[in-house]
Amino acid sequence: MGKWLERKTNWLKNDNYDGGFKEKTAGRPPNDSEDYGVKFIPLRCPRCKSKNVLCYKTDFPIRYHTCQSCGWKFKSIEEK
Ligand SMILES: [Zn+2]
Repeated sequence: MGKWLERKTNWLKNDNYDGGFKEKTAGRPPNDSEDYGVKFIPLRCPRCKSKNVLCYKTDFPIRYHTCQSCGWKFKSIEEK
């Protein structure tokens, strides 16, 4: 009768490999960088301070807005 080969678990190192692999890829990747949540600063009309402004034209990086409250037209420039 032949001798059973010693049955090793993890003989291909699959367990460890899988575990490490899953840990790295499963679920949401860790994200503690600053772009995970950023501040949103609503535009305000420079004249009446209303937040009810509409962007009617974008000419990057300049956006043109019109205030829905007082009709004032102004532009914003996107900063890098
Ligand atoms: Zn206004």
